[in-house]
Amino acid sequence: MTGRFHLRTFGCQMNQRDAEQISNLLHHAGYRPAERAEDADVVVIHTCSVREKAESKLYSELGHVTRLKRERPGLVVGVGGCVAQQEGARLLDRFRQLDFAFGPQNLRHLPSLVARARERERSLRVDYDDADQRFDLPDRHPDCPRPNAGRAFVTVMEGCDLFCAFCVVPTTRGREVSRPSDAILDEVRRLSDCGVVEVTLLGQTVNAYGRSRPGMARGEIPFAELVRRVADVDGIERVRFTSPHPVFVSDDLIRAYADVPELCPHLHLPVQSGSDAVLEAMRRRYTRGEYLEIVSRLREARPGLAISTDLIVGFPGESDADFEQTLSLVREADFIDSFSFVYSARPGTPATRAAERGQGPPGVDPTVASARLSALQDLQRELTLRHHRQRVGQSVPVLVDGPSRRGEGQQQGRSPENRVVNFESRRPVDAGRIVPVRITEAQPHSLLGTPEADLGASSAHPAAAGGELPLV
Ligand code: SF4
Repeated sequence: MTGRFHLRTFGCQMNQRDAEQISNLLHHAGYRPAERAEDADVVVIHTCSVREKAESKLYSELGHVTRLKRERPGLVVGVGGCVAQQEGARLLDRFRQLDFAFGPQNLRHLPSLVARARERERSLRVDYDDADQRFDLPDRHPDCPRPNAGRAFVTVMEGCDLFCAFCVVPTTRGREVSRPSDAILDEVRRLSDCGVVEVTLLGQTVNAYGRSRPGMARGEIPFAELVRRVADVDGIERVRFTSPHPVFVSDDLIRAYADVPELCPHLHLPVQSGSDAVLEAMRRRYTRGEYLEIVSRLREARPGLAISTDLIVGFPGESDADFEQTLSLVREADFIDSFSFVYSARPGTPATRAAERGQGPPGVDPTVASARLSALQDLQRELTLRHHRQRVGQSVPVLVDGPSRRGEGQQQGRSPENRVVNFESRRPVDAGRIVPVRITEAQPHSLLGTPEADLGASSAHPAAAGGELPLV
């Protein structure tokens, strides 16, 4: 069966990585991408349920696609990801035009779900797949483009055992499962052979990798050792990972920041709140003091380490004083960036269940919560801009992503600290090439610079430059 598919995806980096796999699986099934749902035979909406806003986007997308399906009854429509896992059969009952739904552990079943839908059979796959099989996905199809020639995400574990009070992940992605290290290192070697120079190791609590759970996890080495082995792969110049949890930041991982030069000088370490009372109510398992201690030990190991974070404001019971503690922690940790949101109750989480039972502290007034969010974001803007200004005049190795959205003659890439850097170049520069750029201007969300060398000649790996690619 052949045809065209249109994929809409929302959510975190795990979801972005899953979206690449969905696209790859559909290429293997004979489908090719369509820019617009109107031109597709199969539409897949890949969802996120971490925040209410992302979930509402699904319902508005589904409204649009089901209208299309009324005009073209042969159109196949499926929903994947965390909302599919969370809502399951309810989603199929509510949207009669929907042909199938599948959870994050069931990606590999997608081709058979599409084939059944074309035979007018509706189906649901939301079972927790066998630990060994869920990572068992085909190599990249030659026609399936990688979003960036020089960078790649590599899944090392999935799921989470921590059950933070606000989070749906343990219900939607299931319990913690580590992928065997041999398979991870094989994938990294093959990526390197294709010209990838930067890998980001992915997992919900990525540094919990390798924790032994009889019958489940098969990661045989601790996370810090995995980082070292990935950094040792020939051709890999940059290693990142996301998202770590503070309780699993081991002494050895801190040491790796001192002695593994490939480990980038940037860490995204979610803190969520600066108040001990709120951290306890969120079930985060560390205190403000313990978090700051980790930050300080990391910066001792790697002076100048740029740290970014996630923050939630307006968690039930958060007082003005608690919020002040968050502001002061943000200043003390001197984050280079943060992703902050107003708390939204998600179905089935410990906090939501407590509220449904009439237990737990009262919610924060939405106007107060949004004023807190604005204050927090104002502070972060100030800190980010200060960090950016400190880079002006420095020479930074930029891994090129391709043309910048700023317009013709502008290229874009990422610094080792994961900052977006825009620079002028008369000729396009190959994605995947690392070029030295002198920073000339600090902007609130990015840096501007001038290349320090003549960028005329290509030095990118031939595969990254568009040559023959081995399959990965
Ligand atoms: S550590 Fe907490 S926030 Fe992170 S995925 Fe697990 S339950 Fe969710």
